[in-house]
Amino acid sequence: MIQLKNVSKIYNKGIHALTNINLSIDKGEFLFLVGPSGAGKSTFIKLLLKEEEPTEGSIVVDHQDITKMSRRKIPYHRRNISVIFQDFRLLPNKTVYENIAFAMQVIEASSKDIRRQVPMVLGMVGLSDKAKQYPHELSGGERQRVSIARAIVNNPSILIADEPTGNLDPETAWEIMKVLKQINRRGTTVVMVTHAKDIVDTMQQRVIALEKGRIIRDEHRGAYGYED
Ligand code: ADP
Ligand code: ADP
Repeated sequence: MIQLKNVSKIYNKGIHALTNINLSIDKGEFLFLVGPSGAGKSTFIKLLLKEEEPTEGSIVVDHQDITKMSRRKIPYHRRNISVIFQDFRLLPNKTVYENIAFAMQVIEASSKDIRRQVPMVLGMVGLSDKAKQYPHELSGGERQRVSIARAIVNNPSILIADEPTGNLDPETAWEIMKVLKQINRRGTTVVMVTHAKDIVDTMQQRVIALEKGRIIRDEHRGAYGYED
């Protein structure tokens, strides 16, 4: 599903953000990516999304080497690999329903598909009764659930969660984790970047730790491994 071979990323000015990364992620895995600030986590995500290109190595996603992908295929790649963020990034002037529908409109989905899919994903994240609300009328946990619904509405095979619980209190964070695990159980591969020690230690999933651009640990049923 995702395979990195000898991947390095050197930014201009000679900053080695990632060094010789070799990694395989299977379809349907749930994994945590951890490590201190500056370890290369954001760079890893940007390479997967093709927002940055590796200096060396190959990155295969769903049997396609994305470093050699033709320009016309990039939109399809970006549809297949979806991202949620710590700060939700919802459109403030659109309702919950419209925020999710918009993600389908930009890929020119039919209005029939939109009318079917949006209520379905709202149900999956437990927000069927909030369709007409605006983001500012929702709690942080509800906003993150909207962003998850939007991220999965076009059926990506991979969901990247970039510190999705970073702005949430612990109880709400756990609600979000339940939603992410449920989406994972339906077959979506989930890669979550996090500093939430409690969550990583409790979930007992694969943990990959990056430090100074290198993988220093890759454990099944791993732990967070840092004290913060
Ligand atoms: P993390 O997400 O783990 O905090 P990053 O991938 O953001 O790590 O950064 C890894 C290293 O690459 C850091 O030294 C950072 O300063 C550097 N870096 C990140 N983005 C850029 C960039 N666009 N240009 C130059 N250096 C960068
Ligand atoms: P985060 O901790 O969420 O990764 P950062 O503050 O490290 O956020 O980075 C914010 C943005 O700045 C990112 O897009 C990152 O790629 C970029 N960046 C980080 N370090 C550098 C750098 N040394 N030079 C240029 N851009 C950088």
